[in-house]
Amino acid sequence: MEPGGQPVAAPLNRAIAHSLLYPSLVANKYTCEERWMTEEGDAIVVAWGDGHVSTYPFTYLRGYCPCAACQGHGGGPPEWQSPAADLGLQGVRLVGAYGINPVWSDGHDTGIFANIKLRRMCPCSDCLDMKEPGAPLQLMPE
Ligand SMILES: [Zn+2]
Ligand SMILES: [Zn+2]
Repeated sequence: MEPGGQPVAAPLNRAIAHSLLYPSLVANKYTCEERWMTEEGDAIVVAWGDGHVSTYPFTYLRGYCPCAACQGHGGGPPEWQSPAADLGLQGVRLVGAYGINPVWSDGHDTGIFANIKLRRMCPCSDCLDMKEPGAPLQLMPE
C-alpha cells in the first residue's frame, strides 16, 4: 500500500459520521440562524444556516408581498406592487420556525414570508442580482 494513501479518506468519513450523529449541525440554507435590521432601518438582514447572509430592503419585501390580496390566486411568479416611498416597518411577527410576518407602516400585515421562499428571493448579486425590482420575480430554484 502506498504510504499516505489510506488517511486521505478518513477525514471525510469522520465528517459524514459527525453529520449523522449531529444533524442539527449540518448547514441548512433554508434555516434562519439570525435576523436583524440594518442600522439605516430600511432592510431586514437574515443569516442562513449555510453561512449566506441576505439583505432584504423593506420596499423589496413589501413590493413582492406574497399574500393573496397582493398576488391573487393565479400562481406564477410574484408580481410587483409598488410600495409607498416612505414605507416603514412597524414590527415583525415570527411564525414559529416557519417564517416572518412583517407589519408595514401602510397598515398591511397579511404577508407571510416562509424561510424557504425568503431564501429563494434573496436579491444579492450571487442569487438574483436584483438591482431594480419591478418585474415579476423569478425565484431561485429550490
Ligand atoms: Zn400583501
Ligand atoms: Zn443571496
